[in-house]
Amino acid sequence: MNYTLQNKRALVTGGSRGIGAAIVKRLASEGADVAFTYSSSPERANEIAQIVQTLGVKALGIQADSAEASEVVAAVERTVSELGGIDILVNNAGVLAIAPIDDFTLADFDRTIAVNVRAVFVATQAAVKHMQAGGRIINIGSTNAERMPFTGGGVYAMSKSALQGLVQGLARDLGPRGITINNVQPGPTATDMNPPEGEFAEMLKKQFMALPRFGTVEEIAGMVAYLAGPEAGYITGASLMIDGGFSA
Ligand code: NDP
Repeated sequence: MNYTLQNKRALVTGGSRGIGAAIVKRLASEGADVAFTYSSSPERANEIAQIVQTLGVKALGIQADSAEASEVVAAVERTVSELGGIDILVNNAGVLAIAPIDDFTLADFDRTIAVNVRAVFVATQAAVKHMQAGGRIINIGSTNAERMPFTGGGVYAMSKSALQGLVQGLARDLGPRGITINNVQPGPTATDMNPPEGEFAEMLKKQFMALPRFGTVEEIAGMVAYLAGPEAGYITGASLMIDGGFSA
């Protein structure tokens, strides 16, 4: 393995399962100490922390609901105090609510915005207070920011499109400080949120994808690790697709 992230301190939101857990493991395998948040899976969080510790780096699982701004700020502050700083922030935690317009509840609308958009801003604002030049912020957006080809997904797509505008603007704030901010936009990726088998999955593969398969969490984590590393220092304000051609 390549230890390009040795001595770096990272925080990944939503690191107990799925894409976030793969990102935690990948950053740790490249030498970073890694804190991560979770909301409702303490057992899964403990498992991930134990795996990370076997890699010889520090691991810190923090229970924090991304919908609560005070909990997000507290998670950043705890990362800084226990790991000694923060160099990499990965805003991964996200929720997906799908329903036709007539049935979509305002509670689901508000939760989608709170977790998928507001928490990204809140964590970023808290983290950059402590970040030095060379800092990296990476958000997990979605290919649905640019293409939402089925019904019921309008609010989710809106939340991920919002991240595109956010990184374009914040890149200007953070560029002079030597900090980059980008979105990674996965296509269908095999997780609890998006199981790779079943009627819906088959429809996606057949009708919408150039590569007729779901992505793996490790493939997404690889792009995040690249953006977190030293070779990606000239990339900022970008939204990078990793979607099997879903948006092609
Ligand atoms: P999963 O549902 O498999 O995992 C979600 C993770 O986020 C869990 O660790 C969960 O923790 C955490 N989480 C959820 N809500 C909160 C919250 N309110 N506060 C803190 N943590 C929370 O999702 P994926 O891994 O599939 O998705 C990760 C990201 O990737 C999301 O932003 C999603 O929108 C995006 N994405 C996913 C795609 C896919 O096909 N899977 C495609 C494109 C984008 P806990 O278990 O403790 O609640």
